[in-house]
Amino acid sequence: MLNYSEFNEYLLTYLSPEQCQQVHKAFLLAQSAHQTQTRLSGEPYITHPFEVAKILSTFQLDHETIQAGLLHDVLEDTAITKEELAAIFSESVAHLVDGVSKLKQIKFSSRAHEQAENLCKMMFAVAHDIRVLLIKLADRLHNMRTIGVMPTEKKNRKAIETLEIYAPIAYRLGMNALKMEFEDLGFINLYPYRYSVIAQAIQRTRAERESLLREVQETIFNTLKTYGVQAHQLSIREKSPYSVYRKMQRHHLKFKDINELFGFRIVVYSLQDCYRVLGILHNVFKPIINKFKDYIAIPKTNGYRSLHTVLIVKHNIVMEFQIRTIQMHLSSEYGIAAHSRNHSESLSIDKEHYAQQWVNDMIELQSNSYSSLEFIEHMKMDLDPDEVYVFDEKGEIWTLPKGSTPIDLAYARSAQEARHCVACSINRLLAPLSTPLQSGQTIKLIFSPHAAPNPGWLTFAITGKARSYIRNWLRNQQYEHSIDLGKRLLIKELESINKVLDDLTPLIPALLEKFRVTQINELYSSIGLGKCLANTVMQSIQQMHYGVGHEDKKIMPLHLNGEEGIVLEYAHCCYPISGDAIVGVIKAGTGLIVHRENCTQLKTISKEESILCLAWDIDEKMTFQVKIELQLLNKIGALALIAGILSEHEINILAAKTKEIMDPRLNDLELVITVRDRDHLAMLLKRLRKTPFVHRIKRL
Ligand code: MN
Repeated sequence: MLNYSEFNEYLLTYLSPEQCQQVHKAFLLAQSAHQTQTRLSGEPYITHPFEVAKILSTFQLDHETIQAGLLHDVLEDTAITKEELAAIFSESVAHLVDGVSKLKQIKFSSRAHEQAENLCKMMFAVAHDIRVLLIKLADRLHNMRTIGVMPTEKKNRKAIETLEIYAPIAYRLGMNALKMEFEDLGFINLYPYRYSVIAQAIQRTRAERESLLREVQETIFNTLKTYGVQAHQLSIREKSPYSVYRKMQRHHLKFKDINELFGFRIVVYSLQDCYRVLGILHNVFKPIINKFKDYIAIPKTNGYRSLHTVLIVKHNIVMEFQIRTIQMHLSSEYGIAAHSRNHSESLSIDKEHYAQQWVNDMIELQSNSYSSLEFIEHMKMDLDPDEVYVFDEKGEIWTLPKGSTPIDLAYARSAQEARHCVACSINRLLAPLSTPLQSGQTIKLIFSPHAAPNPGWLTFAITGKARSYIRNWLRNQQYEHSIDLGKRLLIKELESINKVLDDLTPLIPALLEKFRVTQINELYSSIGLGKCLANTVMQSIQQMHYGVGHEDKKIMPLHLNGEEGIVLEYAHCCYPISGDAIVGVIKAGTGLIVHRENCTQLKTISKEESILCLAWDIDEKMTFQVKIELQLLNKIGALALIAGILSEHEINILAAKTKEIMDPRLNDLELVITVRDRDHLAMLLKRLRKTPFVHRIKRL
């Protein structure tokens, strides 16, 4: 059980005697701090941190990590403080222990898969040092190994957490062996019956296939020998009960329909041999089309590298073959921890060497010979001043120049998609699209099919790709829309003198000359853009043809159909939406701005501006922005509830702002949301008023 000298002996195989001394000091402190505590099993509490430290030592992690492993529960469970740890040991040990304690505050509360994924990401974001995560994983591993004594309810919760959070984290860190153990422990505890049924079925099939497997193994062995390729390892693999279970669930399969239950792993000495072996295998057995995967050329995001191919070994029996080098194999089993095994340097590297290390890593990373785990590690360290690394909602990592905003990320991912970007959340909080990104953040981009690039984007998008796409799009859109709007504005003006557009035809050459344009569309466009006023053009027309002066005529409103796009602007003082009584303010140089008829801003209209009578003629797919003010009771879950109701009504939140708190029991919120029209908004407000947490709500 608790055999310290054996442990110490093992540590001495890779740590210096002084470092082992430090570890022992941590052990003694942990032992006395936890003295009065016992585990649920009745054992002294110290057995737990001791086993955690042992797990960490199997990855040959540095002495600070081992120390922190021993001390990982003292901040939470005993009177010892972070400052004391720093004084007795070192800043970094204190920092590591503190980090592990912080991770405990992230509570897993829902079974929703989405949330689990977000929690994983948050763990990465909260753990500023990758070693904190490794300690947390070791902690969970030991707790799962000894979970037998827990009450069922707690056992189930821990098992779900392990499957949904810890196994994926281990996977992301590339630690396959750990991931498999988490999955097995989680599965067997959550569904003991299903586990045993599947495990037995696998065992039966194994017995049936035994001779075939041996036969295939021998064939491969002999063929490789003929071709002169040496294999370091040629092993039979079988799917774990959990992965079989997942596959059955995900694809609604019966056990007998699970293919590739067995397979082979061939570990060779060089990269060239990987491809040679692949060629040889494809010669011997018929490969299944589209099943070949080259994770060497294109590693998985967690750094996994290997060749995968599925071959027909006999009649209907297919098996998966994995081919990789020893190095690839080690890093697929141990992930980031393999890194510390293979480099004499441990995971902690002193600061001054760090910059150099970073540069080397980047070079290696680019040549794909490095796992992406270091990527994550370095990104926590804020070392490179010119780049930021962020996760998207799929967990993919993106590298962007410093100062990039969510819009840059959107264009980096897909220009096609980016056009429809309307909002984003950063670490699950809604944020403006103009927010500069920081390393480690998780960005979820929110799209709406009717959204389109906005000229304002150019004030904060910094990457060349985003800027050129936005500019191009605006140029095209603006021109088309401005022609259309300009034409309609002019038609309106002509109505007042009882003329139609066609009446202009004879005047076109004169108009082109007068306004110095080469075609009539350019004139319409400049009217639409507000560069020249329809009224001015009309006056010229009158002077040219009809003489000065005209009878007054009842002015009919100009109908907006929502297709005017960016040529026209909906004022952000009153946020007009479909159904509101509206007017347009038009001014040379700024174009048409739509206000609500009762907007107070209209009182401040200057002489150069003219007011245009407008009406809606909107197709129902359009959405508008509107601002609402909410007073919420300051209760847990209130915000989540509101967000839920909004999404039920297919409403997006574009911006959210908390106002200064006047009353601590209340939360004042200002939201800019999208609605279809007044009815849609009214329905929403009515629904929100019925919600228990809502104290007051109104449209601004
Ligand atoms: Mn613990």
